Amino acid sequence: MHRGANNHGLTFILDRVKQKLAGWKANLLSLAGRAVLIQASTSTIPAYVMQCTALPEKLLNNIDRVNRNFLWGSTETSKKTHCKVLRSKYYSQRRLGAKDRDKLPCSRTWKAMRMETEVFKKGIRPFAVEEEQLQVRDVLRTDGWDWSDISLQIPEVILMEIRAIPYSITAPNVGDRLVWNCENKGDFDLKSAYNLAMGFKDEADKFTGGGYGNIGVGEYLVRKCLKDSDVCPMCNRELETIIHRLKDCSASRDIWFKMGINPSNRFYEDNLLLWLEMNCKDGSHKVRHHPPWKIVFPFAIWCIWKGRNNFVFWNRSVQSNIHHDIIFRASEFQHCILNANRLGSKTVVRVRWETPQVGWVWLNTDGSAAGNPGRVGRGGILQDDQGRWIASFSRNIGLSTSFMAELWTLCDGLSLCHNLNYSAVDIQIDAKTIVGLLSKPFYSNSFVMPIIDDCRQLISQIPQVRIGHYYREANSCADFLAKIGSVQTFWPK
Ligand SMILES: [Zn+2]
Repeated sequence: MHRGANNHGLTFILDRVKQKLAGWKANLLSLAGRAVLIQASTSTIPAYVMQCTALPEKLLNNIDRVNRNFLWGSTETSKKTHCKVLRSKYYSQRRLGAKDRDKLPCSRTWKAMRMETEVFKKGIRPFAVEEEQLQVRDVLRTDGWDWSDISLQIPEVILMEIRAIPYSITAPNVGDRLVWNCENKGDFDLKSAYNLAMGFKDEADKFTGGGYGNIGVGEYLVRKCLKDSDVCPMCNRELETIIHRLKDCSASRDIWFKMGINPSNRFYEDNLLLWLEMNCKDGSHKVRHHPPWKIVFPFAIWCIWKGRNNFVFWNRSVQSNIHHDIIFRASEFQHCILNANRLGSKTVVRVRWETPQVGWVWLNTDGSAAGNPGRVGRGGILQDDQGRWIASFSRNIGLSTSFMAELWTLCDGLSLCHNLNYSAVDIQIDAKTIVGLLSKPFYSNSFVMPIIDDCRQLISQIPQVRIGHYYREANSCADFLAKIGSVQTFWPK
């Protein structure tokens, strides 16, 4: 190197390397692609100068650093840990053979990682060697879970949830299966995944998160570049937002006024969500001799929105008697839908216990859940054709739903009949859905499939089986046993 030359005079090489790489998007190239680019392109830049000048070490290190960052995807704003670099640097033979590895020079990242490892080691309680090898099937017995092999203290709530997970007793060696937790049947679906990704917990969340922000009022259409003007088409004065459309626009205020709401009313003070919620829950009769406000209000909103669309798309002005239309629709809904349901639900069913056919045994099962999901119990009773007691059972399942409780109970009852070798069983379940799904051979639900498969398997092994629905009142004994089951405590094995 010429004596007069310094680092400064050669930094153009580093600039060129940087310039060359700046035109590439590192995260769009594969690792191999980035490696080829560095070898073929940036490594050749200093070659020309290097023919006659020995480059200073600092500059070479800088060029290496730029290349390395490009290769591993680090930028100024986000640093990536270069695992392979760390491995080659800190797991070298020289280091592994050193007496005191911590005294060797190392980077701050590595020092931090070493310290974290120590903290992690202190915070974690190690399993015994044989426990690390444990699999689910090692703690799952035919009669339930056996925790005696696990030294870890598992909280009671979690234990109860685990206990309620369905497993198969007739086919214990079936492999595990993946179940999508956000959907009732356990199958993956895009809708629930989207809600999960967006962080929506319930319907209200969905409405505020993605729903009402996308209603096609002027403000939204302009934001999406679908329209030039966001001025309300009906009053031609203010910005058309959804709250303006439904509540604050003079055209809408006119309709609300005709429905008996004064301009000075508190009605106009709330924000959109509160306004919708308050009015949809208001059971008072604001319009005399007409349906309650919580029924009239949604119809009013619907008609206002329809009126706006008719005006915008068809140039039809809003009818002057639109408030009559709203009341009429609300009354029609109340009489045809709500009252019809109320009349329909009052069916009187005569319920009494009946003796089974001669030679048959009766199995009555019931599941009981305190909350849904909550602590659930199962109970059942087996009687002969004279109504005499044969056997009964009552057990706690854990933390689950009432649907699961009914299934567990049925499975217990069937295995009881099977063990006692009865050949003609009349099964009475108080859950209609279970009766229905057992009659559907293609019903599938990943969550409960092990129990359903067990039930089907057991049913096929009993020569004569009849399954029917009964009303809980007809056999309060099974119901009582299930309730006892739900409050039972588990005894550790
Ligand atoms: Zn307006």
